[in-house]
Amino acid sequence: MKLINHLQWNTAYDAVMGNTDTLLITVSHTYIDGHGRFAGFVGSSTDITEQKLSEDELKKSHQELTQYNYEMNLINQLNSYLQVCRSVDETYPIVSYYAEQIFPDCTGALYLFNDKKTLVESMTTWGITEHIKSAPVIAPDDCWSLRQGKEHTTLDNDGRLRCKHVSEGVSNYICEPIIAQGEMLGMLHIEFNGAKHKVGEEKTYYVESRKRLVKITADNLALSLVSLKLKEALQSQSVRDPLTYLFNRRFMEESLEREIHRCARAQHGLGLILSDIDHFKQFNDDYGHDAGDLVLVEYANILKSHFRSSDVICRYGGEEFIIIMPDIDKADLIKRAEMLCQEVAAWELLYQNKPLPSITASFGVAYLHNTLVEKSDIIKAADVALYEAKNNGRNQVVVSSTEFIDV
Ligand code: GH3
Ligand code: MG
Ligand code: MG
Repeated sequence: MKLINHLQWNTAYDAVMGNTDTLLITVSHTYIDGHGRFAGFVGSSTDITEQKLSEDELKKSHQELTQYNYEMNLINQLNSYLQVCRSVDETYPIVSYYAEQIFPDCTGALYLFNDKKTLVESMTTWGITEHIKSAPVIAPDDCWSLRQGKEHTTLDNDGRLRCKHVSEGVSNYICEPIIAQGEMLGMLHIEFNGAKHKVGEEKTYYVESRKRLVKITADNLALSLVSLKLKEALQSQSVRDPLTYLFNRRFMEESLEREIHRCARAQHGLGLILSDIDHFKQFNDDYGHDAGDLVLVEYANILKSHFRSSDVICRYGGEEFIIIMPDIDKADLIKRAEMLCQEVAAWELLYQNKPLPSITASFGVAYLHNTLVEKSDIIKAADVALYEAKNNGRNQVVVSSTEFIDV
């Protein structure tokens, strides 16, 4: 045997290694001809197809495991944020941020039922959101997953299994209901843009792994959303009046204290309107307590539509209401109280399809500017003004003569 140089060895190797994926060539002797060129070799070959396949499998499993760990890590991060959210609204940007990482080549939306459970609304979307093919507001009957209470997947189908809320042209998507403690809260909708370019086993793996991920994400979301909804309901029970759904007296007192300090610091004006429905006892006696309740609810609705969202509208007790109006000047405050008084007097209300007699209310108004006072003092000032309005014949506004103005 004659030794050959490195270049020659490569030539020899190339010549015999026709299929390196499946054959392992072991060369024991190499021959060169009289010109120094490679002429042949003595060696053995072993079929390593199976070994190669299992190596590939191992590599694939390793990649899948790495991907799985990565996705689970993202889901853990999502959970960690969801657990410290204080309201359902706070979860939306977090959900869209993590959904974008967990489903990078997908477009999707989180849908939640409205309070009356009549509609399901898209609360947040992710991916190329202008490409999303699912309607923003859907009737629960328009989604197969919501009807069945279980995941609905369509893959390359001809449209026969497409939900009504999904427009034509989307052939690969999942709708996964979000269910916690037996209550359906909404659903996750994911469109697999990436599935189009995959075939066979790769596609099956892709879709199955997405389905698994969507399910885990929906289950985690369900737990967080249900506890946040419970928290919000408890919180709202503690600050809202159950009949009118206005803020209750306790919340009013806390808000007034806070706003007095805030307006004094910012050197802004603060208005307070105390309103009381006139002759309401008589109304109850004449038309019954249920009609009286209806008046209270509708009166609260008038207040909600009349004032700014920054104003704090409260049921102070019985047929008395307080409106705290931060950042307002005195003239505007009086104008708003006058307008409300007129609006109430012109109000027409039906009860059991019959018109009720006109209802009026009286108003006591107090104003403070750039000064710190006890909240009881400003309420007292408005109360004295209200008393005067009642004594003057009701259905009118009286502005407190007490000046809480520091110039
Ligand atoms: P005034 O013009 O002086 O304010 O007379 P009024 O009859 O409105 O005042 P009064 O304080 O004598 O009576 C208040 C009435 O409000 C008595 C009570 O039956 C009624 N009321 C208080 N809370 C509710 C409620 O939740 N529902 C109903 N229907 N009535 C209520
Ligand atoms: Mg009263
Ligand atoms: Mg009254």
